[in-house]
Amino acid sequence: MVDFTALRSLLTGALHVPADSAFALATSGFNLAVVHAPDAVVVVADTADISHVVTFARDNRLKVSVQATGHGAESPISGGILINTSRLDSVSIDADGRLATVGAGVRWGAVVAAAADVKLAPITGSSPTVGVVGLITGGGLGPLARSHGFASDYARGFTVVTGTGDIVEATATENADLFWALRGGKVGLGIIAEARIALVELENLYAGSLIFSEEHIEAVAQGWARWTESANADLTTSISVVRFPGIEVVPPPLRGRTLLVMHVAYPGDAITGEGLAAPLRALAPPYLDSLGVLAARDVAQIHNDPTQPGPGWASGGLLASIDQKLIAAWLGVVGAGRDIPAVMSEIRHFGSATTVDVPEGSAASGRSAQGSLTFIGAPVPDLFTTVVPAAADALFAATARWLAPESNVNFAGITRPGQKGSLWSAATAERLTTIRRRYDPDGVFA
Ligand SMILES: Cc1cc2nc3c(=O)[nH]c(=O)nc-3n(C[C@H](O)[C@H](O)[C@H](O)COP(=O)(O)OP(=O)(O)OC[C@H]3O[C@@H](n4cnc5c(N)ncnc54)[C@H](O)[C@@H]3O)c2cc1C
Repeated sequence: MVDFTALRSLLTGALHVPADSAFALATSGFNLAVVHAPDAVVVVADTADISHVVTFARDNRLKVSVQATGHGAESPISGGILINTSRLDSVSIDADGRLATVGAGVRWGAVVAAAADVKLAPITGSSPTVGVVGLITGGGLGPLARSHGFASDYARGFTVVTGTGDIVEATATENADLFWALRGGKVGLGIIAEARIALVELENLYAGSLIFSEEHIEAVAQGWARWTESANADLTTSISVVRFPGIEVVPPPLRGRTLLVMHVAYPGDAITGEGLAAPLRALAPPYLDSLGVLAARDVAQIHNDPTQPGPGWASGGLLASIDQKLIAAWLGVVGAGRDIPAVMSEIRHFGSATTVDVPEGSAASGRSAQGSLTFIGAPVPDLFTTVVPAAADALFAATARWLAPESNVNFAGITRPGQKGSLWSAATAERLTTIRRRYDPDGVFA
């Protein structure tokens, strides 16, 4: 048993051990199927708290993990100290400098809302409840991927607590190696206390969803794959086969149906957007059509990701190419009429801006990928051990020839045995190892 009395006396925030009533809430996150069991959790109140935790952990040979929202929780943390950053929730916007300064616990929805007040927008992922820092440290590809690239391309600086407990700045000019690594290198580099991200001028998009009924899934998916070959560079789309559960929280038109959901986002005027989307609308008569002018403030409505915690199991990879044979292989496993334990399988289309790294370089992986492929299991934890992984294995085996050799940590989800694709190229992985050793010489970070 570790005695946390000395650490507790230094903290402004709260430290909880498993016997405390606040422990369960402070360790829980978005994925309720993952239950963390650290020796203690510290809900930090400021950067100094993070430094005290890291220094104490280093002195006592404990591992340090960090959680903002738990969207990235895939396996339980066991032992050590978990830093919970949810209290670091400040957002400040410099409208003239087009910059957002956010605490480590901030979720994208808060930045989108604050930026929209001054007609600016951050480059986000699909979900408003995912954490800013968690997404950016993995790269981050969202509804504007093709027009604007990775979210990490917009990072301008981080305040970081290193493995020695030091508080340092990481920017393009200060600790530039750490800055390079934090833009996509994700783990083992430090605990970020604050991030600065550039905003873009964007008030409205032409965006939303086209939803097609079961009998049109194959024709639409095949037509979409053909269309991606010459898609406009600023238009980002994705297609998903979604098995909407037959439960009351699902709106009646969707409830109990298997549908093809196509997300579309164009950061430009409505007339051009409508023209660009016309070939997609023409693939089959849409069952539901919400494509139109969308305020940048409502960017989360493009994907409509779930915002409430629940049990989750997801696995994925990046695609080196998208073609009609891939679609045939994909639908052979997840298509209409297949009896599979999945709620959704999605193919996103990347390329264009995602292929161009920032001038100073970054660790974000997947620059050469043309898309992503994700499998999300039915939200039934009893199926997560064998049934759901077996279905995902079948999908990734059937689509193996299209999977990119280099994957991306934000899209990997649960890594499967024999999974094709390493999370970083060999050169990037090697450089990350060197930088991790420099900033965390004793291996404090889990
Ligand atoms: C519904 C949903 C939608 C998603 N959509 C997208 C998407 O569109 N695009 C995309 O790229 N990804 C997406 N993701 C993946 C997501 O970006 C990653 O899972 C990300 O790690 C989540 O970050 P978080 O802070 O919300 O989660 P957490 O589980 O709290 O954190 C995950 C990891 O982020 C790192 N981290 C968090 N805080 C800190 C910190 N202060 N310092 C250092 N490291 C830290 C740690 O490695 C931590 O383990 C999605 C995930 C979900 C569940």
